[in-house]
Amino acid sequence: MRTPTDNYWLFFSQCILCRSHTKHPRGICPDCQRDLPWIDTCCPRCALPQTHSYLCPQCRKAQAPFRQVHALFDYQFPINELIAQIKYHDKPVYMAALAEMMARHLRYIKPERKPDLLIPVPMHKKRLRQRGYNQAEILARLLGKLLGIPVNCELLSKHQATAQQMALHRNERQKNLRGAFSCRPFEAQHVALIDDVMTTGTTVSEICQVLRQSPGQTIDVWVLVRTAEDR
Ligand SMILES: [Zn+2]
Ligand SMILES: [Zn+2]
Repeated sequence: MRTPTDNYWLFFSQCILCRSHTKHPRGICPDCQRDLPWIDTCCPRCALPQTHSYLCPQCRKAQAPFRQVHALFDYQFPINELIAQIKYHDKPVYMAALAEMMARHLRYIKPERKPDLLIPVPMHKKRLRQRGYNQAEILARLLGKLLGIPVNCELLSKHQATAQQMALHRNERQKNLRGAFSCRPFEAQHVALIDDVMTTGTTVSEICQVLRQSPGQTIDVWVLVRTAEDR
């Protein structure tokens, strides 16, 4: 008969990707971690994966509403599968392994570039009821704990249930989100907006408009996955 202790042992000693036994306590074994689609070269501002590290065409064309995006992975196997498991198959527990890798990457940020506050991208309450959790909030809380940065999940809210961004074209995405978010006043001068995936950046840009409290404020964006449009 299986006891709760057995379950604990199973969870922490099997890699969530290859199921091999591992002493690694984070859920993904070192071999699988090495093979993940880490972003190698990318746009220095929006972290879009590309073959060189100059500004991407979009960032050359227009001023971004954020200072810098930090992203860990390209949207490829098995990260795309893990994100789908977390979002659509009730496996928010997998976020712990991803958050731990992200925290390790973000520890190299210089102290003066470290944000004072983490704010997750909110979910409309209707979708939140359907899913039962907001994966961006889980990620923000885990990162806050691992990096010692306060988290506030109450400032931003999404008060319009919008169509899924992935299914829309670029100009439709902007229209779809107009006026969908609002933000309460807050004091922090440097914030990081947290989300699981960033595609065209339309959601992030829309949120930056409502998040900005003063011209001198710095907004960074931390996402697990950064990908080009339509992938
Ligand atoms: Zn593995
Ligand atoms: Zn860019």
